[in-house]
Amino acid sequence: MLPARKLRTRTGGKFFPNPAQARLRVVHMHHSKPEPLGRVRLISTDFDGTIHDEGAPEAVPAALQRRLAELQQGGVVWAINTGRDLCSLLEAMVQAEMFVRPDYVVAVEREIYRWDGEGFRPVEPWNQQCREDHAALYQRTAPGFRVLHKQLRGRFDAHFYQDDWSPLAVVARSNLQMDEIQLVLEDFCRTEGGLSAVRNDVYTRLSHHGYSKGTALREIARLHDLTPAEILAAGDHFNDLPMLDRQHAARLVSPSNAIAEVKAHVQQQGGFIAQGRSGLGILEALSG
Ligand SMILES: [Mg+2]
Repeated sequence: MLPARKLRTRTGGKFFPNPAQARLRVVHMHHSKPEPLGRVRLISTDFDGTIHDEGAPEAVPAALQRRLAELQQGGVVWAINTGRDLCSLLEAMVQAEMFVRPDYVVAVEREIYRWDGEGFRPVEPWNQQCREDHAALYQRTAPGFRVLHKQLRGRFDAHFYQDDWSPLAVVARSNLQMDEIQLVLEDFCRTEGGLSAVRNDVYTRLSHHGYSKGTALREIARLHDLTPAEILAAGDHFNDLPMLDRQHAARLVSPSNAIAEVKAHVQQQGGFIAQGRSGLGILEALSG
């Protein structure tokens, strides 16, 4: 079984209707050149796999941190947009000995927190509305969830559980198994309406379809009166797809370790695929 911290934190994702097919679409992958940052006023980065790599000599490269600090000093707003909950993110930032701090955190792909000089405070009325919308949706869909839960347990030997954010969360034994489970979940979401199955690797949770890394980024942009032309978004996995979209950010970036579906999605929209892994890749995009 996977460590508890990972169960709790590493979930999320959007998805292709048929992941196997989506993978086949990525045939030629070439690296483009990053554009100069120019008008960018807001940067939204995923955390795990995008700026943070546990296995790297520096989990979050110091050079990337210095560049982010420099951009912040120049008035750029930086948000970490993650599937982790706030506590887990802050814990990981301490472990990574990070010396820069984002202006915003989007946690669990939906809640927004803003640094106020002393701590990260919930951004309202967004978070309250988010909680109410999820509570109403989960109440409406509860009977369906009970049936689905039973059906899934009968078919798959994955780990199914409930947490503060989702009445049904899954940790699959493999990505292949998650591909199959994801199809069942997407079917359920279509039938019930209003739901998304948010996947990150072998983890999936359910969410209100109105809340994602994309809509949270749009809310931060609204608070700062910024247009997509002034926004850069960077991510590596399924749960980043909603923000890796030109309707939210004109500049799209993926590190070299991003999954094929994400690279294809970014490249199709004229985004930048870095040569470096995670933080070093994002640094390439921010160096212009
Ligand atoms: Mg990631």
